[in-house]
Amino acid sequence: MKQTDYLPEHSGRNGWFETSRFKNHKFNDQEEILKDYDYIVVGAGFGGVNAAFRLVENVPGASIALIDAFPIGYFSSGRNAGFIIDVPHGIVGDPTFTFEDQQWRFRLNKFVIARMEKIRADNNLEINWHKHGMHQAAHLKSSLSYLNELAKFLDTMKAEYHWFDKEETSSRLGTEFYFKSLYTPGTILMNPSEAVRGLATVLPKNVQVFENCPVINVEEGEIPKVTLANGKVLSCKKVIMTVSAFCKNFGVPGSQNIFGIHSFGAHTRVLTDEEIKTLNGAIPFGITAAHPAGATLRYCDRRLYVRTDITFATHINIATERLYKSIYKLRRAFNNRWPQLSHVNFEYVYGGFIPLTMNTQPLFENPGKNVFVGAVGDGSGVTRAATTGTFLADWACDIDSEELRYIKKTFKPNFVPPEPFRTIGGTARLIWEDIHARSEI
Ligand SMILES: Cc1cc2nc3c(=O)[nH]c(=O)nc-3n(C[C@H](O)[C@H](O)[C@H](O)COP(=O)(O)OP(=O)(O)OC[C@H]3O[C@@H](n4cnc5c(N)ncnc54)[C@H](O)[C@@H]3O)c2cc1C
Repeated sequence: MKQTDYLPEHSGRNGWFETSRFKNHKFNDQEEILKDYDYIVVGAGFGGVNAAFRLVENVPGASIALIDAFPIGYFSSGRNAGFIIDVPHGIVGDPTFTFEDQQWRFRLNKFVIARMEKIRADNNLEINWHKHGMHQAAHLKSSLSYLNELAKFLDTMKAEYHWFDKEETSSRLGTEFYFKSLYTPGTILMNPSEAVRGLATVLPKNVQVFENCPVINVEEGEIPKVTLANGKVLSCKKVIMTVSAFCKNFGVPGSQNIFGIHSFGAHTRVLTDEEIKTLNGAIPFGITAAHPAGATLRYCDRRLYVRTDITFATHINIATERLYKSIYKLRRAFNNRWPQLSHVNFEYVYGGFIPLTMNTQPLFENPGKNVFVGAVGDGSGVTRAATTGTFLADWACDIDSEELRYIKKTFKPNFVPPEPFRTIGGTARLIWEDIHARSEI
């Protein structure tokens, strides 16, 4: 492990954070940082927050610090499109995955969704979190093949889903853009920033939560040490690192196999009653494209949201010029779906990082004594991060289970060539996806 000076940066204004009811919540003051903890969790996205909740259950009363370099709910966990996806995402129909893998992914996804639901209910946590399900919609006939494979898998699992034709899709989603959609009811739609930050607010008192507090080094050992950018050195029994792809900059072995893409999101201003009427009575919804490079849309809290435009991320943080360039595609995607609302301005536009691995498997490592590291690698990163964090906590506490054994065996990202080949190869692949996705973007 090595010292890092590469930290998360802002990219535009994140509408999820700006409209979150926990935006101004005060976590622990950095003056309260102790010298010594039982457990330190570094990185408070969905991975880190779930790790902290699991540690609390595994070792009641343990002293725990959950530390993030940024405001909690501002990096990827708070910048995504807000789908907590239950069904196996993107791997169904891929011959490199067995039916058992798909079943496991479905099972683990449902397991962590149920856990977060329970935490929310037990704490009467008011967050924008609804079981509205997911519409995977196709504009082009050529995009349907993946949805057909997913339907076959769901048939085998006897899991609920519905096909909607053009007319039904249009009345549910207030747009004529799609000719067919497959609806799965188990996906949660949330304000991701409010959800991850909100969950962190109900951690019990034995968990101290510090934000805007970068960690620059983690040293393994009998008593591991965590060095903060403010110069403080903390010691503990075990460290869990859930800093996503930033673990590369700490020199975590295997982390070179994580790469990522940048994508961009925009929220409209609040729609007027007249504008909402043009959505034909649609209820809050979430649309992901049948094609993996296609746009994602949401309607919630009287705003429409669009996420589109992807480029290979040579670096995790995003250059400002790149953010500005995204506005053209965001606007085009929005106007194609809701031409009657093309006058409605975007109030917030932001960019974010989606971590990926070649085989979609997360990193799940114990790279040094008493240090445990996890990072995810596919487009359903929220459920996968929650799974990774939860089971890293079990691993750190020596709690064995069938799930943990499966995870240790399979959460191993495949090899990715080093730079410059990864950027060249990744960029070429995304251009190819862009061409094939055509008007789904
Ligand atoms: C535009 C966009 C749309 C997406 N849509 C979806 C979606 O709808 N559904 C879905 O499932 N996934 C989606 N994703 C992917 C998903 O957001 C991520 O995969 C997921 O958030 C990863 O969670 P994590 O906890 O592993 O990492 P992160 O959320 O990245 O959390 C890591 C945390 O570590 C902190 N950190 C980094 N370095 C340090 C340090 N040195 N010291 C302390 N803290 C540090 C960061 O500030 C951050 O808070 C989307 C992503 C983007 C960008």
